[in-house]
Amino acid sequence: MTMSDLGRRLAPPAQRRGEPPSTRPRPVPPLEQVRPGLWSLPVPLPVARPAYTIVHVLETPAGPYLIDAGWDDDGTFEALSAGLAAIGTSVAEVRGVIVTHAHPDHHGLAGRVRAASGAWMSLHPLDAALLDRMEEGSEDRLAATLARAGVPADVTEALLGGGQLVFRDLARPDVLLEDGDRPDVPGWDLRALWTPGHSPGHLCFWEPANRLLLSGDHVLPVTAVGTPLPSEDNPDPLGDHLRSLARLRDLDVAEVLPAHEHRFTALEHRLAELDALHGGRLAELVAGLRADASTPWELTDRVTWRRPLRELTGVALRTAVFDTLAYLACLAANGVAKVDAGSPDRWRLADAG
Ligand SMILES: [Zn+2]
Repeated sequence: MTMSDLGRRLAPPAQRRGEPPSTRPRPVPPLEQVRPGLWSLPVPLPVARPAYTIVHVLETPAGPYLIDAGWDDDGTFEALSAGLAAIGTSVAEVRGVIVTHAHPDHHGLAGRVRAASGAWMSLHPLDAALLDRMEEGSEDRLAATLARAGVPADVTEALLGGGQLVFRDLARPDVLLEDGDRPDVPGWDLRALWTPGHSPGHLCFWEPANRLLLSGDHVLPVTAVGTPLPSEDNPDPLGDHLRSLARLRDLDVAEVLPAHEHRFTALEHRLAELDALHGGRLAELVAGLRADASTPWELTDRVTWRRPLRELTGVALRTAVFDTLAYLACLAANGVAKVDAGSPDRWRLADAG
């Protein structure tokens, strides 16, 4: 297949720029009581992936508290309202919205819930700072990044047209939570764990009484979550993510409640799987550098993805390119690889002169 063929495969017509995302219904798991007073409330999202965000609802005598809120979308808001009604409460009664990180599928609806209820909303300071940057146009910067990575022009065009996230009316937090903080939720002992990587201010919450970890997007049972593009402010997001995963190893956790996919036990096993996955990909990149690959695009093709690079389309392909950039930044941060900046950038092993 030529690169032009590949380019045409990237963005299905329905997801071209300017057209609405697919609205076909996707399965959303039912409302579920996970522990006494703790509910899993999956709400649908207006995007193809992920299909839903799991809002966790903590009941208290003062009213419910939410961990994450879902996307700022009418359908999501209706599902949240219906779920809270099924529990015997309502959006108007919500007292607090604890947001794990400032991505639209978690943070989006927080402002609307706050407006309807007077609840406080919290974020980590680094993700609160992120809100200002999300409102800047980023498409040109993305095109420049892909060009520096040596991604062919037709592939770049398709990647840029693959649908954009729209951020609007981003709500600023009332409460800033840092590592070790205990959010004020009556009757519940939650400990904030700062787990940077997927976002710079990502927070997990450990609930020792039930030995639960509310893991947001930090650790999911099936998908290995992505990290943002390395930048001057955030030079090694993948390294941060790996350190944040390692941090969970000593935690006393019976069950993990992530914000997507499904709850799971055996956190240690999942951490070992992720360790093997990321370690394996780093090793593949080192092998690629040792052989003949040097641009990030060439190196993307040396990594084992869920499917061969040539079969990846849209978001999956963009993720493969971005992940490669993150792995390379991690190798650089560890003194293993170096980049000679140019168009495109060329990478080499640090010990290869
Ligand atoms: Zn998410």
